[in-house]
Amino acid sequence: MTVAIGVVGCAGRMGRMAIQEVLATEGCVLAGGTEAPGDHVGSDLGPLVGVDAIGVTIGDDPIALFSSSDAVIDFTVPAATRIHASAAEETGTAFVVGTTGLGPEDQTAIESAAQNAPIVQAPNFSIGVNLLFALTKKVAAKLNPDYDIEILEMHHRHKVDAPSGTALGIGQAAAVGRAVPLDDVARYAREGQTGPRTTGEIGFATLRGGGVIGDHTVMFSNEAERLELTHKASSRGIFAGGAVRAALWLQGKKPGLYGMADVLGLD
Ligand code: NAD
Repeated sequence: MTVAIGVVGCAGRMGRMAIQEVLATEGCVLAGGTEAPGDHVGSDLGPLVGVDAIGVTIGDDPIALFSSSDAVIDFTVPAATRIHASAAEETGTAFVVGTTGLGPEDQTAIESAAQNAPIVQAPNFSIGVNLLFALTKKVAAKLNPDYDIEILEMHHRHKVDAPSGTALGIGQAAAVGRAVPLDDVARYAREGQTGPRTTGEIGFATLRGGGVIGDHTVMFSNEAERLELTHKASSRGIFAGGAVRAALWLQGKKPGLYGMADVLGLD
């Protein structure tokens, strides 16, 4: 069976990687791509990824793309992801969401769509980071709150949300390990007279600069020792590869909201 995969936001950094991955993956065919109104709409998709014209035109109609796809991959912006979630809900097409920085209403739209379409949502599609989530949960469960948990991330200068969705995912894994709601213990920034650190806090620190694809470290420190777990991405290909893997995995799945742990068979 050949799986037709569409890519919304196809001219973006990740959109282009997703197209390359679809074209390179056996058993997949590129159903098409959409972009926000502007320069790219109406032109051929091939040159976006450095090849000659492939006879597939960039569109701007999500419903048309979802209707002609077996799965659609989304690395865009929250407002667009909400529209794409409605298209998934209307058509029942499998949907892979990688966009981060989503607000509560965007998340509600995805959860509503998952009543009618199978969806994989992940802040990070790499195998390494998903293993890091699992390890973080395990370590946090073993160490008492005497160990301070801090999460440090660095990304390229173009990134628009902070902390990264992956850093929040690590925080969520640590909070689950400690059996506390992340919202009750998260400390997203520190500035000025902050006073001493509160026991049990999960801290976040964000760095932005240059072309860094994505570095994440979680630290567990007490007075006597510090354990650090680090992941560094050196190619966006790992995210695109994971997204295509998720799109294939969704074929034949029931409507519902799944994560990369389901796709990869982790815990
Ligand atoms: P980018 O700015 O390069 O690309 C976003 C694209 O979406 C742009 O081309 C933009 O024109 C397009 N877009 C905006 N509105 C649209 C609309 N209505 N319809 C169609 N396209 C639209 O950004 P990027 O670096 O590719 O990252 C995109 C998102 O993916 C970010 O939220 C980022 O954090 C996330 N991301 C997730 C992972 C992961 O593994 N989950 C990995 C990398 C990036």
